[in-house]
Amino acid sequence: MKIENKAQVLDILRMSGETFFRDVIPEAKMAFYDQLGGKLRVTSMIGISNICKNRCLYCGMRAGSTGLNRYRIPPEDVITAGNAAADTGFGRIFLISGEDPGYGFDHLLRITAALKARGMFVSLACGEWDAAQYRELRAAGADEYVIKFEMSHPDSFDRLNPSTDFDRRMRSIRAVQDSGMLLASGNIVDWPGQTMDELADDIMLMKSLGISWAPVIPYLPARGTPLASGGGPGSRLLMLREIAILRLMIPGVHITAQQPGEDLSKGLSDPEGNTAAVNAGADVLFWDLLPDPQARSFRVIDFRELTDRGHISRVAEMTGRTIDMAGERIHEHE
Ligand code: SF4
Repeated sequence: MKIENKAQVLDILRMSGETFFRDVIPEAKMAFYDQLGGKLRVTSMIGISNICKNRCLYCGMRAGSTGLNRYRIPPEDVITAGNAAADTGFGRIFLISGEDPGYGFDHLLRITAALKARGMFVSLACGEWDAAQYRELRAAGADEYVIKFEMSHPDSFDRLNPSTDFDRRMRSIRAVQDSGMLLASGNIVDWPGQTMDELADDIMLMKSLGISWAPVIPYLPARGTPLASGGGPGSRLLMLREIAILRLMIPGVHITAQQPGEDLSKGLSDPEGNTAAVNAGADVLFWDLLPDPQARSFRVIDFRELTDRGHISRVAEMTGRTIDMAGERIHEHE
């Protein structure tokens, strides 16, 4: 099954659930094996700071939100945790933070260089920087940078992300590409007010950007945020449709499998939600290096449960996939 244009994307977004599961899911499963050899991509991750200067309307970690303990993990501790992950066989690490200029860009460079020297594939998601800084991160050894466009329609983006604007976000995305790092980017699915047309445009934008990884998630209302009263959560079925479309449309792309299930209180570590995502074509799972309660305070959404190896093995077992923890070098931009 080939999906190449917006009309085909809309067809799959709008077809009946029965037709989707009968005709599209088996194709996406086959593509998973063809493109990724049936392997789940397991990455160690650490939320290095939950402080953020921005006020995205949907985010539980937005500046001024209360009810969570703000923290910064000192660079030495991040490096120690990364080395411990490498000792246990992880070849990849994902460093994520709120947009926290107070963390210190030099610290990011130092952490990246140390973990790169350890041979790890280093991904970062630490917000908008200028083009020279993305080049510095690349020079320090960063392999991939995650900067989501969230919504592909500028007016929606500007309304929901008042601390920045769509043009600036797209300039950052281009700067990441120009730096030589791989670009990971994606959207939020089915936030209150999103139209099907907009969702299809999101998917087409992911295709045109040539992303390495789609860090996608359905909209999940976060307590106390301005958007929480607007409705939601986003449709899990629409999320599965997007995953299957991406698997069929962007060969080899990695897609977040850490997706919610029916019971939202189980967060993103619900075997039911994760296995449904894997069966639709997603492959990325995380092993969280943060100790509780910091992990629970890295709270973009309300329920953020820890993921450990037991959970990952369970998902692999339930879906018949194998686990790949190894790192890899980037080729595309070198
Ligand atoms: S989505 Fe990211 S940038 Fe926006 S408020 Fe949350 S942590 Fe900050």
